[in-house]
Amino acid sequence: MLSQAMQKAINEQINLEFASSYAYLAMSAHFESASLPGFAAWMRLQYEEEIGHAMRLFDHIHDRGGAIQLAAIAEPKAKFKNPLEAFETALKHEQKVTAAIHKLYALARKEDDYATQVMLEWFVREQVEEEKNVGLAVDQLKMAGADSAALLMLDDRFGQRAPEAGEAESEA
Ligand code: MG
Repeated sequence: MLSQAMQKAINEQINLEFASSYAYLAMSAHFESASLPGFAAWMRLQYEEEIGHAMRLFDHIHDRGGAIQLAAIAEPKAKFKNPLEAFETALKHEQKVTAAIHKLYALARKEDDYATQVMLEWFVREQVEEEKNVGLAVDQLKMAGADSAALLMLDDRFGQRAPEAGEAESEA
């Protein structure tokens, strides 16, 4: 059984994951409008992954006999002056999510909630990946600078991203 404090904290994390999905969906729309279909596709996959993150937490609450409480999701930032600004926004957001996951893990430790700790270990690892991938985009967009040819090459490369292979198997 989840404690009230743990249940509340996981519900807040569900909201943050949905806010992430919404933020990435807005970025995907921005890139579609900016004729950068590769970045748009990358952001759309990210949007879908974030819903998966929220649903992992959703299932954990149910599996532990807890109650879901869904809260409002704020309007995401939708305008960016260039791709670098969008990815920098994404990186800041992921750093915020990492801090929230670590706080959640610390609470699970404090409460001796071993099941939640095990569930959250996946998220701790996932955040390393998220910051790595978004950080790579930030670095490469900085290198590309105002060079359109380099930007279009990056758009093409980011558009080749495949859905995360480990998504389904890690539930097993
Ligand atoms: Mg997430």
